[in-house]
Amino acid sequence: TPIVQASGLSKTYGSGETAITALDDVSVDFRAGELTAIMGPSGSGKSTLMHCIAGLDRADAGTVTIDGVEITDLDDRHLTELRRDRIGFVFQAFNLLPVLTAEENILLPLTIAGREPDPEWLEQLVTTIGLGDRRHHRPSELSGGQQQRVAVARALASRPAVVFADEPTGNLDSRSSDEILGLLRHSVDGLGQSVVMVTHDPHAASFADRLLVLKDGRIVHDGPAGGADD
Ligand code: ADP
Ligand code: ADP
Repeated sequence: TPIVQASGLSKTYGSGETAITALDDVSVDFRAGELTAIMGPSGSGKSTLMHCIAGLDRADAGTVTIDGVEITDLDDRHLTELRRDRIGFVFQAFNLLPVLTAEENILLPLTIAGREPDPEWLEQLVTTIGLGDRRHHRPSELSGGQQQRVAVARALASRPAVVFADEPTGNLDSRSSDEILGLLRHSVDGLGQSVVMVTHDPHAASFADRLLVLKDGRIVHDGPAGGADD
């Protein structure tokens, strides 16, 4: 069964003549072991879809089930708990805490949840993102690519069932982009997670198994992408 099942999602901003339909009856499933790229023109509803599915925003209509839990029924407290326990987020602006070291940032979701990190897993994460001895540096002492890798490692730290990434390679050079995409691929292929990324970058999309294209709040294409064949 899919890890994420979204059905009949609609969302309108504003009302009356100025109302904007950001999502128009969208239904989509995401499976474990699948890397999905969402593309589409600016304003087509990509962020709104991701935020509604990830429980960061509420749709006006429709249902979302994550790992068997229908989030549309949850109150804010339980929704926050579910996000914390089962969902990883990678945002374009990194959202790293400047006063914490790279390693402390990676561990933050576990710290907040009061869970002890598995030392082997932490070691594997830090090694995979190639931080080396910079693990004890603060974000301001890291390059943009390194900061983004820390943000991705943080999203993967609690081994969430599903990871949502908003432009994970935005503003990165091609080497850093490939490292991020490799890390996301690894979490899908090695750990069986489901990763959903919004991207404008065709190169990033070529790493995906599946490509969704949104237009005017609807899915206008859903099919295999580059990563599926090799
Ligand atoms: P994308 O991520 O594809 O650029 P968005 O989901 O951000 O698209 O936006 C979809 C539509 O909803 C756009 O027309 C956008 O202007 C509108 N929209 C998004 N967020 C808001 C908001 N908070 N208030 C009003 N309109 C919004
Ligand atoms: P924007 O809406 O400007 O594109 P983001 O995509 O970074 O901003 O964040 C979208 C929403 O998610 C914001 O309301 C933000 O407060 C919230 N948010 C950011 N990080 C987290 C997080 N780790 N967990 C839950 N919500 C978050």
